[in-house]
Amino acid sequence: MRKNIVAGNWKMNTTVPEGVELAKAVNDAVAQAQDLKCDVVIGVPFTHLTAVKQVIDINKVGLAAENCADHNSGAYTGEVSAPMVASTGANYVILGHSERRGYYNESYEMLKTKVDLALEAGLKVIFCCGESLEEREAGKVEDVIKAEISESLFHLTPEQWTNIVIAYEPIWAIGTGKTATNDQAEEVHAFIRGLVAEKFGKQIADDTTILYGGSCKPSNAPELFAKPDIDGGLIGGASLKAADFMGIVTAF
Ligand code: PEP
Repeated sequence: MRKNIVAGNWKMNTTVPEGVELAKAVNDAVAQAQDLKCDVVIGVPFTHLTAVKQVIDINKVGLAAENCADHNSGAYTGEVSAPMVASTGANYVILGHSERRGYYNESYEMLKTKVDLALEAGLKVIFCCGESLEEREAGKVEDVIKAEISESLFHLTPEQWTNIVIAYEPIWAIGTGKTATNDQAEEVHAFIRGLVAEKFGKQIADDTTILYGGSCKPSNAPELFAKPDIDGGLIGGASLKAADFMGIVTAF
């Protein structure tokens, strides 16, 4: 069965005490909410994972790291591996965010390795893909998405695939206030589901959760989430205030 998910991506925001407060507020709001139609996940900086884990009910609020290393251990100063993330009690990792691809040169091959190590460590992966404005204007949306997904994920087995969530995040809509229209987003989501169906079959494609990300907020979430192939959101800016985030969580 396909799951709806709303996941926050705090990026490099909040100190540990601020993050703990925010996580508590989200956890309390989720605990009090009646009849939620989606799973809730918060993606937090590495430094926050252990402290945040202590103040949430992991059965109600999933916990994600925003990245992990492409090695499991060793002489990689400053890196944090998937087993380290899993040892905090986190159950998800966000991989392939356009900020990681763009600022830190994460390649298809590197992401493929990160995905493998994350799955091996028992983490679920929220895997981001999305085109730039230039790529959209050049009519390359489908080529870009196909390459990002197939090069880093299509070596997985159907069983492994059950731990993958896709997040479509057009780069031009991230943090810009410009949201893709419902129809623009739905078109790409349907394309992604089609790609998954070609590779893994219709049943697995139907069961795959595909999130939209890019300036999603309480005011535009209901229309986006009403589309048949949009199963929730990956939320940046609006995940930094519990009330805004909950406004999206309750948008289904
Ligand atoms: C993101 O970075 O994953 C994101 C969707 O950001 P925002 O919601 O701020 O556009």
